[in-house]
Amino acid sequence: MNYARFLTAVSAARRPSPIRILTELQQRSPPSLISLAGGAPNPNTFPFQSATIKVKGGEALVLDEPLMKRALQYSGSYGIPELLSWMKDLQKSLHNPPTAGFSPERGQMEMCVTTGSQEGLCKIFEMLVSSGDNVLLDAPTYSGTLAALQPLGCNLINVPSDHHGMIPADLRKILGQWDPAEAQKPGSSIPRVLYTIPNGGNPTGASMTHERKQEVYELARKYDFLIIEDDPYYFLQFQKPWAPTFLSMDVDGRVLRTDSFSKILSSGLRIGFVTGPKPLVERVVLHIQASTMHTSTFTQLMVSQLLHNWGPGGFLKHIDGVIDFYRSQRNSMLSSADKWLKDVAEWHPPMAGMFLWIKLKGIKDTQQLIMERALEKEVLLVPGGVFNINSSDPCPYVRAAFSLSTPQQIDEAFRRLADLIKEAM
Ligand code: PMP
Ligand code: PLP
Repeated sequence: MNYARFLTAVSAARRPSPIRILTELQQRSPPSLISLAGGAPNPNTFPFQSATIKVKGGEALVLDEPLMKRALQYSGSYGIPELLSWMKDLQKSLHNPPTAGFSPERGQMEMCVTTGSQEGLCKIFEMLVSSGDNVLLDAPTYSGTLAALQPLGCNLINVPSDHHGMIPADLRKILGQWDPAEAQKPGSSIPRVLYTIPNGGNPTGASMTHERKQEVYELARKYDFLIIEDDPYYFLQFQKPWAPTFLSMDVDGRVLRTDSFSKILSSGLRIGFVTGPKPLVERVVLHIQASTMHTSTFTQLMVSQLLHNWGPGGFLKHIDGVIDFYRSQRNSMLSSADKWLKDVAEWHPPMAGMFLWIKLKGIKDTQQLIMERALEKEVLLVPGGVFNINSSDPCPYVRAAFSLSTPQQIDEAFRRLADLIKEAM
């Protein structure tokens, strides 16, 4: 893989911050090292002393004074070592990336901690996408992705999708306008990036099958583009075995995967991670060095302690509980939808995630209906248009989240929605 051809001029121009290099060095040195380097403030002057964090059904996390000093201090930009190593083991066990994993000898893969997967995504896009570039994605898609991509001035090419996600035959048709032999040539307009949400898509709830991923990956090889696998709902797949990921089939090193702890540990702590080819993750980290420096050390230590206390088994057991909750919420929403919306709307049951994507019958565009009339009826959903590349295109869909409301509230909300649709029809 020639990664240089994927980088924007800005990303290619990034150089390591000399002080950040010293921080990484210090992080890996024994405590006997006397460092007069770096510009770290003295944590004895900080007001916070220690912390005990109760964990539901488990051991409390104790940040005693020495640990608290570390938690309050700068740390390396890749993430704190004990959290990174835990995550690398997790990625190996879940995805077993064929590019050889993370060992220094064979090390083609790398990981870094990010302040939510959104930070990882935004930095990945800024690393890879220049003004005028063609970028492939399956819209409707996550509005945060559009917010990060659109200002870069790229040309977003919408690959048609259905309730199993992106349709490979349509992707093949779109790519058919180019000669794959041109991919490596400077100035080629062949897309160099494809973005997709492979499980429980936001907003569609769609999950891609293994076969579709294989076909998309083969097209990526043929036309030499990178795949950005934005998978925050990976751990919210309702059925086992979980679908194999793009990362798990990445023999070339062309997949950048963003994972998130937002849906399973905390959304407010802001923690996620990027996994991908070392030369690309390095560029993301150079950007982190120049912006946030690193994800909150306190957040990282808190999460790391929890994960080490749990071990991989405890982590997966926690995930099982989270899945059970969302599956039951999904089922409640589906039965309320059957009860109230059968004659006025259509939907596919989502196999992962937190969203039901509902097509309202006899309504061309849901924007006005939701933003004006729905509030009067005291029910709120997201009008589907905000997930389209061109948000003013009429869209008959709404997104309903089954994450926060009780089954009773969901039922009442759909009763109100049904009334609203009938009045508007
Ligand atoms: N500006 C200057 C002049 C600094 O010295 C530093 C920290 N060394 C920063 C900005 C970054 O500060 P923060 O840790 O709040 O990101
Ligand atoms: N990607 C998708 C598809 C999402 O739905 C979300 C959150 O809604 C994110 C990324 C951002 O997640 P995080 O909280 O990890 O930044």
